[in-house]
Amino acid sequence: MITDTKKLMNFVNGKWIEAKTDQYQVVPNPATGETLAEVPISTKEDVDHAVKVAKEAFKIWSATPVPKRARVLFKYQQLLVDHWDELAELITKENGKTYKDAHGEVQRGIECVEFAAGAPTLMMGRQLPDIATNIESGMYRYPVGVIAGITPFNFPMMVPCWMFPLAIALGNTFVLKPSERTPLLANRLAELFKEAGLPDGVLNVVHGAHEVVNTLLEHKDVPAISFVGSQPVAEYVYKTGAANGKRVQALAGAKNHSIVMPDADLDAAVKEIISASYGSAGERCMACSVVVAVGDVAEPLLSKLIEKADEIKIGNGLDSDVFLGPVIRQEHKERTAGYIETGELEGAVLVRDGRKDESYQEDGYFIGPTIFDKVDPSMKIWKEEIFAPVLSIVRVNSLEEAIELTNQSDFGNGACLFTQNGSHVRYFRENIEVGMLGVNIGVPAPMAFFPFSGWKNSFYGDLHANGSDGVEFYTRRKMLTARW
Ligand code: NAD
Repeated sequence: MITDTKKLMNFVNGKWIEAKTDQYQVVPNPATGETLAEVPISTKEDVDHAVKVAKEAFKIWSATPVPKRARVLFKYQQLLVDHWDELAELITKENGKTYKDAHGEVQRGIECVEFAAGAPTLMMGRQLPDIATNIESGMYRYPVGVIAGITPFNFPMMVPCWMFPLAIALGNTFVLKPSERTPLLANRLAELFKEAGLPDGVLNVVHGAHEVVNTLLEHKDVPAISFVGSQPVAEYVYKTGAANGKRVQALAGAKNHSIVMPDADLDAAVKEIISASYGSAGERCMACSVVVAVGDVAEPLLSKLIEKADEIKIGNGLDSDVFLGPVIRQEHKERTAGYIETGELEGAVLVRDGRKDESYQEDGYFIGPTIFDKVDPSMKIWKEEIFAPVLSIVRVNSLEEAIELTNQSDFGNGACLFTQNGSHVRYFRENIEVGMLGVNIGVPAPMAFFPFSGWKNSFYGDLHANGSDGVEFYTRRKMLTARW
């Protein structure tokens, strides 16, 4: 029996329904520790019900003319714009990132809706009138069915918006399992989509953890899974989903390197790197976690990074001058402190210790900007994704060496090069083994119109999220060959 109004509900068939569980998890505001809500850890029964509803809704929604579906997306876009500030504030409260970062995240989400609103064009097939004498051939696109989306805590709006707006615009129905650490925004997104005119049952939200995920991965009526989260879980989701005959796209963790050449505009590079390393408390899959300093750039680069890191204001992301908010949970703060200890034991030089910042002692889960110099690839702090405001510096002698080092990483999400030299850029582009490249840019995350193209252990599957890959992933084809 639910007595506390802070207890969240699932959103199924256009209605708020209580999960069939007595297990709830507290959702704190990471900046204050104050309880925002309690999220239900839903059960197999809750998932089965949501999938059944989505399967039923698919019959009508998939047969709804595409321009009519797209019109709901146009209305949704407008509502998201109208509620921009409210959504950003909610993101800051449940995730901890600054209001400015959250505002940017809402924009990234809205762009996904804008892309999806092009469904009538995106769904077009192709024909060849004469593939043989008097024989025509054509390809037609259809939706796939009930899609499941499983999302991480670090982008409560953008990542779900990589999935459900496009899937739905293309005629699928959807069951979203948001991160149990940031569940509030998903409910608001679903509510606003209904307000935009989305028929009941097309988008459903089931809160929870492993049991919800496993039920979706095994469900016979779910033909496709979109996942974004950490590497071990992405690999598990990919393997289990594939073993159950599903198409799966699983976007995973990262360890992104930024290479700084001696000819770089150093002030501009430092500004980008500070923002990429410490923005959103380092909790971005495109965060810069390693700087590769080439040649004699190392000393001036290091002193400028320390100077700028010292200027960073740490605190509640709702305060306008704050740049660095908390990490997501107390355990994550402790895990990060553990990595800092490990780095010291491994022999890296701790030049700025985020545990010494005053805010480290506060109630929120704060950890200040941390910098390690003289890191090498044998160290755990180089190999593993820390996902916090911890930056490692590796010193090398040439661009070739920098790229060789970067390519040793098991991950392959993003890499950046800071230089003024076109031939360095060409060499970097041709030889780096990652899927998203930045030149004089700290966070080279593609927008909704292009696929989010991680490589190696940063991605499991064939078709990435967003852009043309997203359209392929959320549709299946029929080939018609005809003689008249
Ligand atoms: P996470 O893997 O802990 O959780 C992601 C989702 O999987 C959540 O919904 C969670 O409930 C579920 N989950 C967690 N453990 C599970 C298990 N054992 N079995 C079944 N389901 C499980 O990830 P997170 O900490 O929420 O997010 C941060 C991670 O996501 C980072 O590694 C980051 O790099 C990655 N990420 C990647 C991208 C990308 O595009 N490649 C984008 C954003 C985040």
